Parts: sequence; C-alpha cells; structure tokens
Amino acid sequence: QTPVPRDIVISRSCPPKPIDLLAREIGLLSDELEMYGKTKAKVQLGVVKRLQEHPDGKYVVVTGITPTPLGEGKSTTTVGLVQALGAHLNLNVFACVRQPSQGPTFGIKGGAAGGGYSQVIPMEEFNLHLTGDIHAITAANNLVAAAIDARLFHETTQSDKALFNRLVPLSDGQRKFSPIQLSRLKRLGIEKVDPNTLTEEEVTRFVRLDIDPDSITWQRVMDTNDRFLRKITIGQSPTEKGFTRTAQFDISVASEIMAVLALTSSLEDMRSRLARMVVATSRSGEPITTEDLGVSGALMVLMRDAIKPNLMQTLEGTPVFVHAGPFANIAHGNSSILADKIALKLVGPDGFVVTEAGFGADIGMEKFFNIKCRYSGLQPHVVVLVATVRALKMHGGGPTVTAGLPLPKEYTEENLELLEKGCCNLRKQVENALAFGVPVVVAVNAFKTDTDAELDLVCHLAKSAGAFDAVRCCHWAKGGAGAVALGQAVQKAADSPSNFKFLYDVELPIVDKIRIIAQRIYGADDVELLPEAQHKVDLYTKQGFGNLPVCMAKTHLSLSHEPEKKGVPTGFILPIRDIRASVGAGFLYPLVGTMSTMPGLPTRPCFYDIDLDPETEQVDGLF
Ligand code: ADP
Repeated sequence: QTPVPRDIVISRSCPPKPIDLLAREIGLLSDELEMYGKTKAKVQLGVVKRLQEHPDGKYVVVTGITPTPLGEGKSTTTVGLVQALGAHLNLNVFACVRQPSQGPTFGIKGGAAGGGYSQVIPMEEFNLHLTGDIHAITAANNLVAAAIDARLFHETTQSDKALFNRLVPLSDGQRKFSPIQLSRLKRLGIEKVDPNTLTEEEVTRFVRLDIDPDSITWQRVMDTNDRFLRKITIGQSPTEKGFTRTAQFDISVASEIMAVLALTSSLEDMRSRLARMVVATSRSGEPITTEDLGVSGALMVLMRDAIKPNLMQTLEGTPVFVHAGPFANIAHGNSSILADKIALKLVGPDGFVVTEAGFGADIGMEKFFNIKCRYSGLQPHVVVLVATVRALKMHGGGPTVTAGLPLPKEYTEENLELLEKGCCNLRKQVENALAFGVPVVVAVNAFKTDTDAELDLVCHLAKSAGAFDAVRCCHWAKGGAGAVALGQAVQKAADSPSNFKFLYDVELPIVDKIRIIAQRIYGADDVELLPEAQHKVDLYTKQGFGNLPVCMAKTHLSLSHEPEKKGVPTGFILPIRDIRASVGAGFLYPLVGTMSTMPGLPTRPCFYDIDLDPETEQVDGLF
C-alpha cells in the first residue's frame, strides 16, 4: 500500500494466528507452552533437553553501520529477513529479538518491533508489558537494593550476638544454617555446619558483611523515564536513625539482572550468576555478593518465569522469540542466549535463526561475539550489516539530523559525492565483522527518496570492502517479498566457509583486552586510563575478576568516544574514565564517557498521543 500506513495501523490490520497454533507448527509440544492470552506464550526450558541431540540451524546476526539517532532499520531488517526466508523461501526460521524498555515507549523513541510491513505483532503487546519479565527484574533488583540498606542498618545498630541470633534463628529448639549461609561460611573458609561451634571471631566474621556505604554499586531501578531519580537521598525518615545516603534509580533494563537473564544458559547457571553479583566492597576490600546478603534464592523465585523465552510472531506468521533486553552500553545489548539456543534446535539443520545485536557493529556485534558467543558456545554463520543511504551521507559530512524534524535536502536528493565519502564507515564496519572470520552480507535498507544510482553505489563499495554480497532491500515497504534477494544472499553466505574467532583471549590483562578492542575495532591509536580506571584495574585483578570479558560503555554514534566525529575517526586516544564490574552477568565494563542510565522525558513525550478506546479496548496512538 502507498503511502505505507503507520506501524500500529499495519500491525492491527493483520490478525495474528493463535499462538498455540504457531507453536504446533514449529514443533513445540502443548505442555511446553504457557499461554499468556492468545498472542503470546512462554516456552518452558524442558524443550532444551528434549531437543538436545538435534542439530542446530544456521545462525545469523544482524548489526549495522554506525547509527544516526533515526535508526538504520536493524530491527526492521531482522524481521524482514525472517519473513523473506520463512514466508517466501519456505525455510524454517526464527527471529530472536530484545524486549524493549517500556520507559522510552512513553518518552521519546519509536517502537522496537520493526516497522512498516516488517513487524512483530501485536506491536502494542510487544512494546508494553509483554509477559512481565521486566517487572520481575525490577522486583528482583529492588529486593537486592532493600537488602543492602537494611543490612547496613541492622549491622550498625545490633551486637554480634543479637545479629547472629536473628540471622540463624532457633527452630525446633535448634539453630541451623540455611544452604545460602553454609555457602557463605565456606567462602569465608569456615568449614562448620553446626552453629554452636563457631568461635567468637568466626561469629563476627559471619554476621558482619561490613559494607562500605561509599562502595555500593547496586542501584534501585524502575521502567519509567524519570530524570528526577538520577540522584536521590534515601533514608530520610526518622525511623532510619540518620542512615541517609545518596543513591540513584536506573532504568530497569540497565539492571545487572537483565544482563544475567540474557547471558544465562539454564536455571542452575542463573542461580550461580544471581549469587555471584557483586553489590559493594567491605571495608577490608572484599567483594560483597548477593549470596552474602542471603537473597539469591529469592531472586531465583522472582525470576523463574522470566527465564522462559516469549513466543510471538511476525506480520507474515513466522515465529519470533522476544527475550531479554539489556542496555546496549553499560551491558551487552543482545537478546537472550536461551532464546537463540531453543530457536536453533527448533528450526533444524536447514533452518535459519536471525538474532539482532544492538547499535553498530563496533558495539553490539563486538559484544555479541566476544561476550554472548563466548558464553553460549554458539558460532554464527553470517553477519548481516544494515546500512542506509542517509546515514552514510551523514558519515560523509552531511548535516546533523534530529528525530521528528524534516530531513535536510542532502538526505532527500541524490548526492553521490557525499554518499561515497561516507561509505568509509561502511568499509570499516565490514572489516570489523570480517575480523571475527564470519562472512558479511550488507543489507542496504532502501528509503523512498534513495535513487538507483545511490543504492548501486553502496552495494558496489560494500563488495569492494570485502563483503560476501551486498543487496538492496525494501522489506519496510513490501514485507518479506522486499527482502527475498537478501534472504538468498544470506543462504549462500551461510554455506560459504567461515572461520570464527574471538578478538582476544579473556586471560589477557584487563588493559590489553580494552586496547585490542580500541585499536582493532574503533581505530584508536591507544587507550589512556584515568586514575579511577587504573584503581579499578588493580582492585578487580586482586579480587579475581581480571579474566572476565570486557563490555565497552562507549557512545554508539561514533567509532570514537566523541559522538560528533562521523565517518572513520583516526588519530585519537580512547580515554577510560572508570571501570565497573557485572560479575554475575560475567563482564567488566569500562566507561569511556559519561553514560546516562536513566533517560528523561522530552517536552512533548509520546504519552501525549496514547489512549485506550473504551469501545474496542484498543490502544491508540502508539507509533
Ligand atoms: P534500528 O533497529 O536500527 O534502531 P528500526 O528497525 O527500529 O531501527 O527502525 C527505525 C525506524 O525507521 C522505525 O520507525 C522504522 O519503522 C523506520 N524504518 C526502517 N526502515 C525504513 C524504511 N526503509 N523506510 C522508512 N522507514 C523505515
């Protein structure tokens, strides 16, 4: 249809098939499914075991050139590609995508379900509560936060003996350690199971976590863009006896628990990751974990449903897993390992699983390979690199663009010179993908103002940069039919030899790992560690976390640390301001700039247009 209607109009014009029918079509058993209404279901993890001997399908990751604030269409291409492979080339397919934060849905961003005729439906379900996974993460995260402050309070106001009696209460006239307490004792090197045999010194060590309040790294979270919670004071009521401290709220998807969910491979693995999360340091310099707080078992209970991937569908009735959506800068920004693994089994050896890595190839894809694939053990067959003419023109020196405002004429009229200049960014990102030894197919996502000459130029330059193939596609306007050529190129690339390798060995010193990413992927001359970062390198190495992979927290708008530097910046030294640890999720994250972990609302937020029609009970105004 021309012009292409709004996303929600398209989404609603296409009634989804009942999700249990789709589940049967793709080989799920009815008792592996937990229905959430008619269009969403959770898939139980038992399916992993049932299919463990089955061969995997082909694994494709979608990434992009360095993005503009407008988005290049990675989500749209992920959906368009599976629609092409599944509904037009008749292959078994699965798309695995992230669940978006609800905060931006009411704030500044468009939806994340794709767009035009390439969408996950129903898009309002996708963009709102889905099956409550983010709410579960919020609850779990805030239980940890409450546990930290309550523990600080109780430890300061009670004697060792009183603390011990409360922490190990009498039951049936006997004191017994709980399994979590036994594991803490073991870590303290106290091999005793009988509470009566602890010496006074051991009691003190056991009951006093001795958290240094200034070292607390765990924050409270919520899934609303509320900038006034970026810095707060807690404990102001007289009942807290002066235990006030400065704290902050982050957006829920920035919680380490979200990153844990995305990187976990089973319930047992999630249990140990949730227990390992480091929330603070003791006054003597020991890491304090969630297990020390005694809260990790309760976290498992809160997360027991969230660990199951959510089944939905595309506009053309192909299956989609929507599961996990960690922040793409302070975390790794990729959907869950479990969803990818289950999908790879379900599609079988001739099928395709297309998963999306957030931001550009220098960030989302690098983390996909070095963090996600390292933990999953999966090896991708093809990288699909999405490029747009307008973003490349911006890299060639075109004026800055703002979402919601009309585009300057450089972007709407043919300008081959600007475009050719900007293709340096495409070349670099193709090289970045090739550094991992995986064939690259460039998808040129066509906009209606792009000319044939412009689209041909991008394809030509992409191939000369070493891409296996480069094809233009118009799945936004035409659905899967517009991405058949892309699907065929991906099929061919998947059969070509691939020689996957990680960029660095995790056993290298922290600084070396950071330097390898900065030089090989960003094109930096070197890195410079500011004093706080150097202090953390020493601390984490001493605490035994030096062998974790690194998850760079860098702007996505440039290959460098300065968002205004477009194209391929050279001659820069990457400054590392600080380094933090997500020990449970399993990475260290060096901070290259200042990262906001709580978005705000603009003057006219999206919620102005959102309403519910009481007659039809339908959501209006969502994108
Ligand atoms: P990304 O995943 O790269 O952030 P999205 O796939 O979310 O990008 O797309 C960003 C926005 O651009 C969405 O609103 C989408 O509908 C729109 N869009 C994507 N491709 C096209 C296209 N070819 N023509 C017009 N709009 C498009």
